Amino acid sequence: MSVKFYREEHQVPLEMHKVRVVQKLNLLPVEERLKAIQAAGNNTFLLQNHDIYMDMLTDSGVNAMSDRQTAAMHLADDSYAGSETFNRLKKAVKAVFGTDDLLPAHQGRACENILAEAFVKPGQVAIMNFHFTTTKAHVTRCGGDVIELVAKKGLEPQSDDPFKGDFDLDLLRSTIEQYGPEKVAFVRVEAGTNLIGGQPVSLANMLAVADICHDYGILSVLDASLLQDNVYFMKTREAQCKYMTTKEIYHLLAGKMDLIYFSSRKLGFARGGAITSRNPALIKSLMEYIPLYEGFLTYGGMDVRSIESVAEGLYESLDMDYISQGPEFIAYLVKELDDYGVPVIKPAGGLGAHLNCSEIVPEVPHSQYPAAAVGAALYIAGGIRGMERGTMSEQREPDGTERYAELELLRLAMPRRVFTLSQVKYCADRVKWVWDNRHLIGGLQWTEEPSVLRFFFGRMKEIGHWQEDLASKFREDFGDSL
Ligand SMILES: *Cc1c(COP(=O)(O)O)cnc(C)c1O
Repeated sequence: MSVKFYREEHQVPLEMHKVRVVQKLNLLPVEERLKAIQAAGNNTFLLQNHDIYMDMLTDSGVNAMSDRQTAAMHLADDSYAGSETFNRLKKAVKAVFGTDDLLPAHQGRACENILAEAFVKPGQVAIMNFHFTTTKAHVTRCGGDVIELVAKKGLEPQSDDPFKGDFDLDLLRSTIEQYGPEKVAFVRVEAGTNLIGGQPVSLANMLAVADICHDYGILSVLDASLLQDNVYFMKTREAQCKYMTTKEIYHLLAGKMDLIYFSSRKLGFARGGAITSRNPALIKSLMEYIPLYEGFLTYGGMDVRSIESVAEGLYESLDMDYISQGPEFIAYLVKELDDYGVPVIKPAGGLGAHLNCSEIVPEVPHSQYPAAAVGAALYIAGGIRGMERGTMSEQREPDGTERYAELELLRLAMPRRVFTLSQVKYCADRVKWVWDNRHLIGGLQWTEEPSVLRFFFGRMKEIGHWQEDLASKFREDFGDSL
């Protein structure tokens, strides 16, 4: 929460929670960090948690649970069908979205699998403000193509636009006209646009997209995985939302969109996912997929304890004291980095801070994966694990040519309610060191390249010997300190 500090220079975000369970962290010496990142094939996904000081890989499934969530887990009603636990989830979804029907799934991409199977026919297109990795993989697997219509401002790294995730509405209309509505499987609005820096979509834009879909008879789908950050930004950046309650915003959206799905690894501070809709016929049309892919209709692949924690977490996603913590810590980190002169995506979004690696290592070309290289450098510098969100996270074209990312980003995710502000300051300090030593950073090349979702398990090696040089420079600058 943002409270006013008596001494202006003390102004920091203030947590509206206290820590009651802790986990010990390790900070390895730089020589071991160098070994660890090389053993991981320079892929931060392949690092071991034991070797990491700050895990900023993702905000997925790593958010701290509240006392109420862990307490709720003890109430879990274990039964294959008809459990009380599921009824509590239904009640929570009703409270948050105002919808009566839901289909549980084990995580967000499971919902995407089902939506793609049900609605995407070969040759069709799925229109979105921006793709998400797993969404695109499911749409293309079903023979569809993804079309991205984020407004131009969304791809400008430095901007003061409050809603960089917005659709270009004119382009949406003309694209639908161009393909014909029957060729459009659905239009998907991604709240808190993940891959372009956790940038929010305005309420006005989301509602306009739903209206356009309605006019053309096209299905509108809201990916609400990052909706809690997005709602925080609507409340703090969009005039029409200032005096609305969070609940009113969620309900207004759910009343307009045909389908909503979410990953509870994000929305709900837990694990799991669900599809919901105000339209019972739509839910019914998807029902058969749940027992096929997920599990029975009252658990959908989630264990009952997780369902209890999701239910409780969904109520917490209405609470501004809770949903402000992530965005405010991110804003703090972004400001520190910006003050140091580090190129970072602005304005600060949800999810995490995003380093603009094309500007950090301009001499490393897309074909040598600049964002992955900066990610390896930051791990060597501080035991901090970020996630590459650039060319390495793209998929090659069917003919094997590389698809270069529009933005070469290193994402430093901010798991919700997890880090202290001193850890955030440490992160900013080590990024600053990487920035000051950026001339030492070189490129990477594949040693093992999987054909799909290569960023998850592909391996790379340094081109030349820049990583040893970087580690030696660290030792020079930091003496025998870690
Ligand atoms: C994480 C995420 C997903 C996928 O959710 P999982 O639970 O990780 O499968 C889908 N969409 C968005 C916007 C996400 O951030």
